[in-house]
Amino acid sequence: MGYVALYRKFRPPVFEDVKGQDHIITTLKNQIRSDRVGHAYLFCGTRGTGKTSVAKILAKAVNCENPIDGSPCGQCEMCKEIATGNSMNVIEIDAASNNGVDNVREIIDEVSYSPTKGKRKVYIIDEVHMLSAGAFNALLKTLEEPPSYVMFILATTEVHKIPITILSRCQRYDFHRITIDTIEGRLRQVVDAEGIQVEERALRYIAKTADGSMRDSLSLLDQCIAFNYGEELTYDKVLGVLGAVDTEVFQKLFSALYTQDANSALTILSDVVIQGRELTQFVNDFVWYLRNLMLVQASDQMEDVVDISTDNLKSLKEQAEGADTDTILRFIRIFSELSSNIRYATQKRILIEITLIRLCKPQMDKDEADSFEDRLRILEEHDEKNSKLLDGLQSGQIAVAAAPGVTGAPIQPKEKKVLERAVPDDIKKLVSEWPRALLRMGNPMKTYMQKAKLSLGNDDKLQIVFDNKQLSDKYSKGESAEEFQNFIDEMMGKHVEYETRCLEPTQTFEESYVNLQSINFEIVTEDEDKENE
Ligand SMILES: [Zn+2]
Repeated sequence: MGYVALYRKFRPPVFEDVKGQDHIITTLKNQIRSDRVGHAYLFCGTRGTGKTSVAKILAKAVNCENPIDGSPCGQCEMCKEIATGNSMNVIEIDAASNNGVDNVREIIDEVSYSPTKGKRKVYIIDEVHMLSAGAFNALLKTLEEPPSYVMFILATTEVHKIPITILSRCQRYDFHRITIDTIEGRLRQVVDAEGIQVEERALRYIAKTADGSMRDSLSLLDQCIAFNYGEELTYDKVLGVLGAVDTEVFQKLFSALYTQDANSALTILSDVVIQGRELTQFVNDFVWYLRNLMLVQASDQMEDVVDISTDNLKSLKEQAEGADTDTILRFIRIFSELSSNIRYATQKRILIEITLIRLCKPQMDKDEADSFEDRLRILEEHDEKNSKLLDGLQSGQIAVAAAPGVTGAPIQPKEKKVLERAVPDDIKKLVSEWPRALLRMGNPMKTYMQKAKLSLGNDDKLQIVFDNKQLSDKYSKGESAEEFQNFIDEMMGKHVEYETRCLEPTQTFEESYVNLQSINFEIVTEDEDKENE
């Protein structure tokens, strides 16, 4: 006998065996019991969540001679015929390869013949969103008023592609992603039935990797068993087969990124590539690792949610203790973004490398241009060129908080460093004059400028930061810009160059800009003396 894939062999024969879709199963069973079955159903949901399995059970149930509590009996002639795929009453169509008008016309022609055996002809159209517009139209009328002995079950992973005219004629059921616990429980039943020894952690890992898809979980289990035939399936073996990476690698990678050690980070990635690991999964697993790190940090009672071995939990806790939450959150954000970009990318490795370098060298990162500590270090290296700046640095006494996490020293990361940054005298003066300047401004300039914040660009240019793109554009050129330029020039008695910036929705001003207004310059200038007189 040929080998039957686990997901076929363990396809649920009755409603009771369908896992994780109780909300659908209860309704369908009630319909069968009360004999109020509809004529058109639409099953939506991601792959492997049981749409086709439920469609087949439903097809059996409506044809079964003695349904038991709404489920097919599995014993009668119709149940057996449908189970073996020999019944004329259940017609499965894959819309992906039969998507034309002609394919639908064939169905419609056939619909007019009543079944010779059993009660209902059931048409299961899988991936129904693949039908052409013409095919949908052809189907419409039959779907609206089919003969009483006909039933349609449409299944799709992309419900947004289904025309509203079709949607409105179907009973819609949304299949949920299946939880890790539910999948694990089902996998346990399967391996017990097959008499295979499997470590609990191994099953858990497979369940997690399947990402809500029961079919995927069974296919993965199949792969793992095939690789280790006749032996106990351990966690390590599963990691090996599925191309997964041990937690230790993630620990090292996290440390490397945290200490901004680009060399180590790239070496770790290179090892992962050499081992032939699947890079999309590597990134996803790292996000999962970061998530665990965050949870462990948030609470002591996270063992169940974190779902890892005690050994790993211990080292996870150690790593979490030394890390700062903002940094972990930032890493999660960046790697989640990477994970969605990398999925269909051809140059996965390069994309990951760019991300690692971005994290290790924040000054390269324009979006996160908030690391003044790093920029200062670079300035110091160009000592001569910037001697003027450094002088200012010594006398300026300006405190700028380093961006949290980005540059935080790994040993005491929670202590934010306070650094000094040079601010040109003219700008210091302007900042200290700003509140009075606002009073003198006319409207609407005053209204807008009251909301703006003052900052300093890399080239020591004054930056006016708005939280609104329209305003930042309005004051970057044109009449309003000219008016503002004249105003500050007059106020300062000389030309002060400025530029406008717009705060992105994802940014906070404090994190992304030097907040000049938070600094108390306490400069008493000659001009001010004069004014006071
Ligand atoms: Zn039956």
